[in-house]
Amino acid sequence: MRVDADDFARPCKCGREHHVDVKEILIEEGATEALEEAMTDGFLRKYISPLLICDTNTHKATEEIMEGIYDRCQVLVLDAEGLHADNYAVEIVENCMEEDIDLILAVGSGTIHDISRYVAFRYRIPFVSVPTAASVDGFVSTVAAMTWNGLKKTIPAAAPLAVFADTNIFAKAPKRLNASGVSDLFGKYICLTDWKVSNMLTGEYYCEYIAELEEKALRTVRSCLRDIAEGDEESCEKLMYALILSGLAMQMVGNSRPASCAEHHMSHLWEMEVINGHLDALHGEKVSVGTMLVLKEYKRIARAIRMGRCHVVGYQGPETELLSETFDRKGLLEGILQENEPELLESIDKKRLESKLDRIADFLEDLPEVDEMEHLLEKAGCTRSVYDIGLTEDKIEQSLVLAPYVRRRLSLLRIRKMLEIEGEY
Ligand SMILES: [Zn+2]
Ligand SMILES: [Zn+2]
Repeated sequence: MRVDADDFARPCKCGREHHVDVKEILIEEGATEALEEAMTDGFLRKYISPLLICDTNTHKATEEIMEGIYDRCQVLVLDAEGLHADNYAVEIVENCMEEDIDLILAVGSGTIHDISRYVAFRYRIPFVSVPTAASVDGFVSTVAAMTWNGLKKTIPAAAPLAVFADTNIFAKAPKRLNASGVSDLFGKYICLTDWKVSNMLTGEYYCEYIAELEEKALRTVRSCLRDIAEGDEESCEKLMYALILSGLAMQMVGNSRPASCAEHHMSHLWEMEVINGHLDALHGEKVSVGTMLVLKEYKRIARAIRMGRCHVVGYQGPETELLSETFDRKGLLEGILQENEPELLESIDKKRLESKLDRIADFLEDLPEVDEMEHLLEKAGCTRSVYDIGLTEDKIEQSLVLAPYVRRRLSLLRIRKMLEIEGEY
């Protein structure tokens, strides 16, 4: 299928004119043939010195099917073992790049895309995305998630000029990767709720049309979870489409607000390795577990509200001691304090929060039940429990308390710091 990006770039009821940078999105069998055509006779013809970036795994998965494209590019195969989107990988690319490179092809999943996107932006070279698995929603993102000298950073980067997602490639990706894409998408249940709550309490910008796009992405995938797990081509295409929709939603807002909040904060916290060691898990796998833990907590809050046992206590001041205990050891405290300035919770009026508790409970009750979510994730073969990603249960409460500090973005998990819940539910 061809996704017409112009469909999304229109003046909107929210008052903004949304902007989409991607010119061409193709999700179908043989999409890479269309890419070759575009390079020969089409809109990519003018680029005469393309650089193709892949890793040892994605090279193996694509070298035959994309032979014609490999032949006409300078090819850089990065070692998949221990590959991260970090300054080290960027250095390798910079050292190998010929000077006249005028186009970059990213052939891989999330990491290859982050590296390519960053280099493309830095050298003002357009890049084309060839996703080899439906593993994340960041293919069309305008930011790169990079690790810079050990620090996780979200760095402005280039959106792809075009996406050529070939079903013959991504439907055959390792199951774990496509399951991870389902998880990344299911996190949207949480972040959309966080966005609505924040909008209601603080007047933060919110666009109904974009939230609906994300909801559409969720519905698309919910209907074919088992088939995705089995590698059914049409269903994997739907997953890819949904992930790209989610990426477009981010482009339209200009940041990841529609696609990332409390559930991703959990994942970011674990990646900082301040309360846990290194987790050998994919992005979506961590988001999956974050989603389950936050969902359980949100349902608990909803029950407490309905029973009149959730009280607004107001903002209690910064958790200074806890933050320095946690983040100072790795020299991350300064960055965390800066990130949280000015304090988000100060923008919430206590009375307003009190008067909106029932409305919040309505939003939370709209979320899938915990059992239902477990079942959905299980169908698609996704990770669900802390043990699946190498964590232990004693990290759960600690994660729920600390995660909201990793990004200055309002979530109900952060607002929880203004609530007191009597008893256990
Ligand atoms: Zn809008
Ligand atoms: Zn994500």
